Amino acid sequence: MPTIVKCSVANCEYWSEGNNCTADMIMVEIDPHANANFKEEFAGEYGHDSGHKDQAKSSSQTCCHTFKPKKQNK
Ligand code: SF4
Repeated sequence: MPTIVKCSVANCEYWSEGNNCTADMIMVEIDPHANANFKEEFAGEYGHDSGHKDQAKSSSQTCCHTFKPKKQNK
């Protein structure tokens, strides 16, 4: 059964109506790594890195690293 990811970040390229994430995979990181560039370092399409582990004290210290700003229709 596929995992369903609900997300409220409506300006993300992978977000869709109903607060659904449409990415095949997401990478969640701790906030201190929010600015790390996993795309360049590990060349994953979704900014994925399965090679390291971190510890978070609460959910507020985590963030989605797969976020990609939605392109504006102009
Ligand atoms: S990639 Fe991350 S920020 Fe974007 S919709 Fe999915 S869970 Fe939300």
